[in-house]
Amino acid sequence: MTRKIALEEHFMAPQFITYFKSTAVNISADLFDKAVGALSDFGERRIAAMHHNEISHAILSLSGPGVQIEKETRTAVRLARECNDFLAERIQLNPKRYGGFAHLALQDANEAAAELERCVRDLGFHGAMINGQTGGLYLDDPSYFAFWERAEALNAPIYIHPGNPVDKPAMYDGHPELWGPVWSWGVETASHALRLVFSGLFDRFPKATLILGHMGEALPFQLWRFDSRWEISNRGAMRLALSPSEYFRRNVVVTTSGVCSPEPLLCALQALGHERVLFSVDYPFERSDIAAKFIETAPIPDDVRRLICHKNAESLFNLGG
Ligand code: MN
Repeated sequence: MTRKIALEEHFMAPQFITYFKSTAVNISADLFDKAVGALSDFGERRIAAMHHNEISHAILSLSGPGVQIEKETRTAVRLARECNDFLAERIQLNPKRYGGFAHLALQDANEAAAELERCVRDLGFHGAMINGQTGGLYLDDPSYFAFWERAEALNAPIYIHPGNPVDKPAMYDGHPELWGPVWSWGVETASHALRLVFSGLFDRFPKATLILGHMGEALPFQLWRFDSRWEISNRGAMRLALSPSEYFRRNVVVTTSGVCSPEPLLCALQALGHERVLFSVDYPFERSDIAAKFIETAPIPDDVRRLICHKNAESLFNLGG
């Protein structure tokens, strides 16, 4: 087996269960309790799942949406800090196995920037995980420029994790199965990423790094079409220094979380490059053994497998090999 580092691996802290419950509407009470149990464990169960699948290190993140749906900004800011302190304590008990992504209250962009800096500098975290929009704002909003400036200066990648949009489009009416991981989360998250690219955010912050899960939320498949169509569609209103696909190959990396089939893996590798695809499980929502078996048996050369499994993560997060 190949040694692995995983970076879309979730946890739960007691004071965030209510937020988590608000988005877990599609699942039974029994399944919800099971998820909370698995998320809350930092010991035996999680370590065993890692050990059996040769996952040597997991970068942990709060399971969404967290404080991003909190109405009171001050409460959100306070709880985000509590969340990061909670995670830092858990990591300290097992620093060899665990790292962390910051949880941030984006209701206040300046506080979020300051908390990101505290998490990276003082707590040793590796970046932040953002659960989609916050109060209808996406990360291309100019109010977040200071946040991106800090993230770029700290060399801290920002992982955009799926969440729900503010409104539920009529398109999903009568189809609860499409609302969530099957379809709408991918659409929402891919659109979020495209907003960043087309807003010119990466011209302003050329060294910023965006991480997308789920093999890039289907975006690697579409790069040629973005390049061929974007200028016609925006009628010259936007100006970008590069073509859309070039930002994906410079500023975006993707993880294999929750997608365990070779076709999209090969597409992501070819579209983005071997250095831009990183292994992840999405524990405990996906099974570590399935994710591990998938990457171990994927039809790719072993040197590429090693890049995906751990080398790319080591370079991105400066982890000693
Ligand atoms: Mn996830």
